[in-house]
Amino acid sequence: MTDILSVRFERTLDRLVASARPGTRLEAWIFDDATSRRDAARRLAERGVEARLRSAYKPLLHAFLEEIDLAGVEGVTIRYPVHAAAPSNRFRLEAYPLAALLAPCPVEFAARGDDGLYYDVELRRAAEILMLRVDAPNRVHVDLAGETNLSPTGWIREGNDDVGQRLETDYEALFQTVVQAVADHGWAAEPYFEELNIRVAHPAADEPLTVGDEVLSLREALHEDLYFSLLELFQKRSGRPLGDRGLRPGQIVPEIVRSGGEISVHVEMRPLATGFVESASQTLDTAAAPLDRKQIAATLETLDATAFSAFSRSGRAVEARYRRGSDAAVMISAGQHANETTGIVGALRAAVRLGQRATSHFTISPLENPDGYALHQRLRGENPRHMHHAARYTALGDDLEYRTAENAGPLLFEKSIRIQAETLCDARLHVNLHGYPSHEWTRPLSGYVPRHFAMWTLPKGFFLIARTHPNWERTAETLLDRVTRHLGALPGILEENQRQIALYERHAGETGFRMINGFPCLSSVDDRHTVPVTLITEYPDETIYGEAFVRGHTAQMETVLSAYEAWQDIMAAATV
Ligand SMILES: [Zn+2]
Repeated sequence: MTDILSVRFERTLDRLVASARPGTRLEAWIFDDATSRRDAARRLAERGVEARLRSAYKPLLHAFLEEIDLAGVEGVTIRYPVHAAAPSNRFRLEAYPLAALLAPCPVEFAARGDDGLYYDVELRRAAEILMLRVDAPNRVHVDLAGETNLSPTGWIREGNDDVGQRLETDYEALFQTVVQAVADHGWAAEPYFEELNIRVAHPAADEPLTVGDEVLSLREALHEDLYFSLLELFQKRSGRPLGDRGLRPGQIVPEIVRSGGEISVHVEMRPLATGFVESASQTLDTAAAPLDRKQIAATLETLDATAFSAFSRSGRAVEARYRRGSDAAVMISAGQHANETTGIVGALRAAVRLGQRATSHFTISPLENPDGYALHQRLRGENPRHMHHAARYTALGDDLEYRTAENAGPLLFEKSIRIQAETLCDARLHVNLHGYPSHEWTRPLSGYVPRHFAMWTLPKGFFLIARTHPNWERTAETLLDRVTRHLGALPGILEENQRQIALYERHAGETGFRMINGFPCLSSVDDRHTVPVTLITEYPDETIYGEAFVRGHTAQMETVLSAYEAWQDIMAAATV
């Protein structure tokens, strides 16, 4: 273990209480949960201070949750600013999921022509129209990756000061201290470390909302912003473009644990973990949570198929099967991004069914990234409903899809499983099962909207992506049509797609994707893949459990089965 940083921070709320002068007024915006802010306001009142302690994170949403009286309100109009240092829909996104939260009360959003950092809120009642102003303190800053951001920030107004000034909160100071310490550390060559562990103790409680899977979570947001900011720091350091998925810094692991009040961080380098967290075996078809690693292996054992394997960077086994038959071959894989867990169950369920077909011909590689999966299990122990993107990539810190025999040399590790599958079955179709966040994904300290992933910041239904070699576009269209027709018959799936897409459109605006039979789809020509047609699923599955999880892996399984069926017809027609 090598220590890089160990700091305890004074809590901003405690400082506000300690420094307040009796008989004064105080307004502050900080990154704390509602209970902590209310408690501090009560302590201030006891000291004779009239205080309003608001959330710096999603201030409009919190204003509606905590302050605005909606009794008798028949309509709401929100006029939001547009700032040159942010996407034009930034403040409408930050209001998410207000349109659903206030339903059936109609909510209109309108962009204002200025960049004043506040919302104008118009509340319409039968007898009156009330205008409110809801402040949204933000600051323009350049981050350590060299990018200019407009980010939410703490703010304070005291006494008769109507403007106030920036208040660097504990939450912002902690983030900045960690990123600066990692930037200042003397790193040698890539991979720079095995595990870079960032253990944060923070008191914010998660606050579930009544819309879909939505949860307000400052600690989840901190995990996301630390993980991607540190990844970007190493991208920049290595001379790669931001967002490059081939960087191999090692495994970056922010563990944001809930404390009783303390705010602290400890950053250290550790050896890679090599085990898995054990959990009970579940009935595969009704699994309500991600599977135990042993159950994944045991399910593969039940298939009448040839085993092939690889090893991850930490030495964990990557196991797969090849079943040879007279059908047109299909490659099936899941768990490339290990925090997207419904695909793993769906791939196995599909393989069990295909295994019963006499002529079936496929490879099944249900967990391509076991190091990420083991990390996801570990992180879920503390925070089961956080999306944990630190578990997305491998222990090398790269996206295994972008790793090749040429660019990796002796570091090919888990990627070997996909190359072996391609060689064994020589398939023309690869069904690659993925997921994405089932609730809003943010980076509050780096411009709010996740950089390079803006398209995935809000859930928008079960999404399909086709990537094809040139001249395979029409084949992919036929496949998307067949698969989406089949999926549309699953109970509730079109309604849930519609609900999520409608809310996405209210807050994000233009969707930028095509609808095919009720499913959002993207299709593009791309020769990065070896196999000519890749069908990628994107189920909004990160953080779901129970019935929602079963619906997710059922949709994944049905995608594999219908794509397999359709592919037999497509290939038969092509050879006539
Ligand atoms: Zn993915």
